[in-house]
Order: sequence, then structure tokens, then C-alpha cells
Amino acid sequence: MQLHAEMLTVHTTHPFIIARGGFSEYRVVWVRLRDADGAEGWGEAAPSRFYGETADSVMAAMAQFAPVLQRANSWSIDAIERELEKTLRWNAAARCAISSALHDLAAKRLGVPLWKLWGLDPKAAPRSTFTIGIAPDAETLRARVRDAAAYPILKIKLGSTWDREVLRIVREEAPHATLRVDANAAWTPKQALAMLQPLSDVGVDMLEQPLAPHDIEGLRFVRERSPIPVVADESCVVATDIPKLVGAVDGINIKLAKCGSLREAMRMIAVARAHGMRVMCGCMIETTLGIAAAAHFSPLLDDADLDGAALLSDDPFTGPSIPNGQVTLSDAPGLGVQRR
Ligand SMILES: [Mg+2]
Repeated sequence: MQLHAEMLTVHTTHPFIIARGGFSEYRVVWVRLRDADGAEGWGEAAPSRFYGETADSVMAAMAQFAPVLQRANSWSIDAIERELEKTLRWNAAARCAISSALHDLAAKRLGVPLWKLWGLDPKAAPRSTFTIGIAPDAETLRARVRDAAAYPILKIKLGSTWDREVLRIVREEAPHATLRVDANAAWTPKQALAMLQPLSDVGVDMLEQPLAPHDIEGLRFVRERSPIPVVADESCVVATDIPKLVGAVDGINIKLAKCGSLREAMRMIAVARAHGMRVMCGCMIETTLGIAAAAHFSPLLDDADLDGAALLSDDPFTGPSIPNGQVTLSDAPGLGVQRR
């Protein structure tokens, strides 16, 4: 297989700010694997600074791995993913792009969408949340919540200096929406404890990553006192992180850009299920190409947060989407993604 990697710059409709900062412009890498017969599979890398990745480090990783793909059998996805684990250990975004492209290629060759290859029913996909990032002021926040009126489930980013006020405003503007909260590791256990009542008061039904990633005992402390289910995101990168989170959280948030492969995502689902945990899948700021890979296994999830492309003003791809939060998957083969 020949590997082609191209950097794409995309923009969010509003600056996407979370507890540790954010931007309006993001760079992703579009990966195309072309086999000897001309068949092509696509994938996307959405690098995360938090995990030490940039679009440049993804491009370097692609150059490093291209020779391995040149002599690889495109059906041997498991073997290629094991090689990726060894060679690109510290670049999950890059691994994810190649894994997605291999799955896209295999399903296209078989002439079926990936969800069908996995034996899934698109109707079983849970509704996706739509994220309200940290806004600079109350008026901006109100406008953003009103703009998101089509989405019945909102995920509010907290971890700023006016969290309580944010909750009150969002609930005022969206009186009937289901509300979820993501603090992106911003709080101490004491702060999290103090937030439980304000969160309950506005009817928040999920609290994502209140504490620092390593603070598993802190998560357990919060969960034991929380009427709201607690979900681990930054604390849960791959399947082997899950056993130590048992009892400390109610569920996990999988992201392909964190775990680095579709097969690892499947392992995470299986391990979490084995421990009776709730399973969610999230995303980074990604285009429809990146979101598609997760959308295809979304029927296996309890909760979806696949709004990465819906937050963009210039998505370069078309394919699976989330109008009103409903994950739509077509019968198009592979990931079902086209260049716009
Ligand atoms: Mg999160």
C-alpha cells in the first residue's frame, strides 16, 4: 500500500475553549492508503497537544510508517496495528488514521458499510451530545445555547471561574435539554464536591472527568458522594486503564484519537462491559472523516459525543453526520465519506 498524508486546516464556528484553553483553527491529517489494485481507504488524524501530538508530528509518523505499509497485506489489520503500537507508540492520532483507513479499505472492498461488517444496527446508536464550550461572557453563552436548540442533549464545558453562573444560564436558555458536564480535569476533589449540588440543581445527568487524570482515588471519593454518574475521559486512554477505574467511575469515554485504533476501541468496549461500566465515545475537533470511524460503532455505545465535525464551519468531507444529535449512517461502503 502507498500512504498519502495531507494536512488540512479547519475552523470551528465558535472558538472551542475548554478548561485548559482552546482555538478556532485546527490542523488534522487526511490519510489515504492506496493498494496495488487502486482500492483506497481513508482515515484522519486529529492530533492533541494534551497528548503531545501536533499535525507535524503526525506527518513525521506517517513518513516513518509508510515503508511498513508498502510491504504489508491490507487485510492483516491486526498485525499492522500491532506494528503501529511498536513503531508509533506515542502518536495515537497517527495510529488512528491508519487504522481507520485500513477498516475503510476492507469494508469498501467487501462493498458494505463498516457498521454492517460489524453486524450492527444504526438505529441502536444513542443520540449525540452537542458541546457548548467555555464562552467569554454571558451574552455569548446565551447565543451559543440558542444556536444549539436543535440538539436535545448538551454537553457543557466547565472549569472556568464562573461555572455556577454558566449552569444557571444554560438551563435558562435550554429548559428542556438533557445536560451533561465536562470539567476536563480542572477541579480538585473539594471543588468537585462543592459543584455536586449546583449540578444536581439544574438536572445534569453526567459528570465527565472532574479531576486530574492520575487522581483515581479522588474520582472514587467524588463518585461515592455524587448523585450524578461520573465518567472518565482523560483518565482512560486504552483498555488496560479500565480495570483500575472500576468502582472509581461509572463509565468511560473512548476516543479513537486517544486509543489509536478501531480494534482498541472494540477492546475498550468489551473490557468496560465486562466490568458493568457505562460506555461513551467522544471525539476531538475532527472532520466528518474522523467522526465517521467512531459513528460506525456507535450502536455499541450508551452515550455518544460525536460533535467534532458539527462544530466546524468548513468541514472538508461529507458522510455520517449528527443532525439533531441523531447519528446517521448510510449504506455507502466503508466509512461512507466523500471529499466535499
Ligand atoms: Mg472529555
